[in-house]
Amino acid sequence: MSSAPTRDTGQDHVWTVTEHLEDILATVRPLEPIELQLLDALGCVLVEDVTVPLSLPPFDNSSMDGYAVRVADIAGASEEYPAVLTVIGDVAAGQGEQPHVGPGEAARIMTGAPLPPGAETVVPVEWTDGGLGQGPVSRMRAHSASPEGASGQVAVHRAAEARAHVRDKGSDVKAGDRALAAGTILGPPQIGLLAAIGRAMVRVRPRPRVVVLSTGSELVQPGEKLDPGQIYDSNSFALTAAARDAGAIAYRVGAVTDDAEILRATIEDQLVRADLLVTTGGVSVGAYDVVKEALQSVGDEDEAGSGVEFRKLAMQPGKPQGFGSIGPDHTPLLALPGNPVSSYVSFELFVRPAIRALMGLEDLHRPSTRATLEAPKALTSPAGRRQFLRGTYADGKVTPVGGAGSHLVAALALADALIVVPEDVESVEPGSEVQVVLLG
Ligand code: AMP
Ligand code: MG
Repeated sequence: MSSAPTRDTGQDHVWTVTEHLEDILATVRPLEPIELQLLDALGCVLVEDVTVPLSLPPFDNSSMDGYAVRVADIAGASEEYPAVLTVIGDVAAGQGEQPHVGPGEAARIMTGAPLPPGAETVVPVEWTDGGLGQGPVSRMRAHSASPEGASGQVAVHRAAEARAHVRDKGSDVKAGDRALAAGTILGPPQIGLLAAIGRAMVRVRPRPRVVVLSTGSELVQPGEKLDPGQIYDSNSFALTAAARDAGAIAYRVGAVTDDAEILRATIEDQLVRADLLVTTGGVSVGAYDVVKEALQSVGDEDEAGSGVEFRKLAMQPGKPQGFGSIGPDHTPLLALPGNPVSSYVSFELFVRPAIRALMGLEDLHRPSTRATLEAPKALTSPAGRRQFLRGTYADGKVTPVGGAGSHLVAALALADALIVVPEDVESVEPGSEVQVVLLG
């Protein structure tokens, strides 16, 4: 693997949350557009203006089940003096050939079926006797334009204007109109519109492929037996889920043992399917901080990691972070801390925006709002660090859940918001206003 040279790590520099995020977003570029099948493009950003090739509806058609008739034939029709017409056939949706409706005639028509030639309007079946004059309607031969299958009469007891209950050709969109503008995010209705105008493929920025890899010799896969000193690997699950939730195609790699060589080889193997790599653990200053060792120490070309820089951030949780790019394609890599809450908060702050930037989305961030702190006592926060506490938000109020400990996964699972305590604030009194990130 070749990559950018090792940066000066500037060990003493403490990065703000904003600086770190800006550095990531300055590096991460939207993925190159590709053609995708419609359903694979759900949630993706369209990169072409889509023009309508054919008008919708493509032909005048009925909006009701009823009878296609001439206006003059039913003028003045009433319950007392119904207009009695000869039923000459059926027009069903999807039927190509239609009967010609002449004076004194009616064609039974179904919703969505083309208005047959000669007909000027549609009377709903409720305005008629339902063709009782010809026997049970169900006995009429469907798809038949021949008089043989519809030799009956219908009594119409209400007049209709021209083109009543008719959906005009092109009344939805016209051939040549712009259906969707480049930059549109494709949700279900947009996918539906593309299908309606006959598009099978569409040009979008694809979902990024995100590989999530946890590190730690203590980690065991859920479902297996725990030996003394071991814990279950939760980070790779939480972050793979979070990556999918953010719009990525995410691959979870099982926990990698604390061995720099094995980790390097694993990362190298994963590069082929990654637009973004996320690791957890091994980034602080302990003896087994394997991610740092694997990615930082190599300065040579053809080695992974020579572009990854490890930093201290002015935040809590999530102080140690690594960021850079590796491999021949300079694949971005975010090395998150190992504590589950730290890694999750770091994901929310840095990885999620990176995924959205790769997708070409403009709105990268979670919504945030001001809320009144509801708490039994003041919150405390270390000076000089931006703190992200977990909380529950409702109706303009936020309540902390759990404490500041970055191992508190049960409290994290109850939270739906992050309470942000700025760097220069060390204490927040109950009842005061705080900034809250809504996790949705
Ligand atoms: P580290 O940064 O690797 O020293 O990890 C910090 C703490 O987070 C340690 O207590 C680890 O056991 C824990 N931890 C690291 N990775 C995971 C993981 N994937 N799942 C759950 N806990 C983890
Ligand atoms: Mg570890």
